[in-house]
Amino acid sequence: MEGDPPRPPGAAVTTARDLIAAADAHSAHNYHPLPVVVATAEGAWVTDVAGRRYLDLLAGYSALNFGHRHPRLVRAAKAQLDRVTLTSRAFHHDRFAAFCERLAELCGMEMVLPMNTGAEAVETAVKTARKWGYRVKGVPAEMAKIVVVGNNFHGRTTTLISFSTDPEARADYGPYTPGFEIVPFGDLTAMRAALTENTVAVLLEPVQGEAGVIVPPAGYLPGVRELTRERNVLFVADEIQSGLGRTGRTFACEHEGVVPDVYVLGKALGGGVVPVSAVVSSAAVLGVFRPGEHGSTFGGNPLACAVALEVIAMLRTGEFQARAAELGGRLLRELGTLKGTGRVTAVRGRGLWAGVDVAPACGTGREVSERLLRRGVLVKDTHGATVRIAPPLVIAEEDLEWALGRVREVLGP
Ligand SMILES: *Cc1c(COP(=O)(O)O)cnc(C)c1O
Repeated sequence: MEGDPPRPPGAAVTTARDLIAAADAHSAHNYHPLPVVVATAEGAWVTDVAGRRYLDLLAGYSALNFGHRHPRLVRAAKAQLDRVTLTSRAFHHDRFAAFCERLAELCGMEMVLPMNTGAEAVETAVKTARKWGYRVKGVPAEMAKIVVVGNNFHGRTTTLISFSTDPEARADYGPYTPGFEIVPFGDLTAMRAALTENTVAVLLEPVQGEAGVIVPPAGYLPGVRELTRERNVLFVADEIQSGLGRTGRTFACEHEGVVPDVYVLGKALGGGVVPVSAVVSSAAVLGVFRPGEHGSTFGGNPLACAVALEVIAMLRTGEFQARAAELGGRLLRELGTLKGTGRVTAVRGRGLWAGVDVAPACGTGREVSERLLRRGVLVKDTHGATVRIAPPLVIAEEDLEWALGRVREVLGP
């Protein structure tokens, strides 16, 4: 900037402006972060490098369901740091069995295959479904098909973006992985028509997060469950964002009494401390793997298991789910009152999780996010006109009220 004294190369940078410029100069521009530089955080609040506080209503896309640095999770991580952090799966370690057993139990399933990031877990689910299709269902070699839905978000790997319908996520990354069929979300007739003898799985998010918190029509998930059971097809629920308390239940599928064949979990499973993901299913499904056929150096490491074990223990009491349901009811009621104002065209959500479509007159989702940032509230836009709101489940009632006041200032009459 003009007037700034020149900074010698390599000198320490401290102001937000300098740090943002340095990040822009030295990192790939695959993100466009809001102009805030976080230095510390606790609970639902973050503090920037200038000491200004912001209420975090994004919660790391639900990776921070328990808030920043939850004391139980920090304690579990610190205790494990003093014991053992990494063994690789070449050896056993003393946290692994408990992690798998308790996660399977939380899911009402039998077996766990741990990975690290969400995308890796979805990839693992794709491989699981294909292997199950060939070994158990008897699909002819190379013929397995997986049915997915439009506007999905399952991660950023080459295979996963092969069946994305978002041009930004997909363009210039071909050639694409074959074997996927896309049908509209919420359309059972289209799904029925897409299932063939070679279909091994239906893969979908029970509530679509990245698409803008899209809740399917009532009866859709039970319909998918019935269809997949009838046709001997695995129902794979990507609950990476919707699961682990966000919607007011442990899993979003529970709202419709549905139990899928496979859960894909991530984000909050790592407690906002470390990346932890997993595929959870029956022994009949995950039993298809033999040694050497799949793996991950870091998957199921002792530190990840220790933190995830604490996450699972926290979810077992149901208190976070109940809190999400209660605060979520208030969030959605209050956001709903903005609909008549001409500034908001739609409000969707489930639990403590909302997508707000902003009228064009009010600017883009990005502009609304920037206005909220200036008022001390962090949210994130998606797909141009939508702002998504997903506070940590630990947010204090009065903090949520305060944030809703700021939202009313920006989007109210
Ligand atoms: C975030 C997300 C993923 C990808 O998780 P990463 O950890 O970013 O790889 C996959 N599916 C859903 C539904 C997600 O929200």
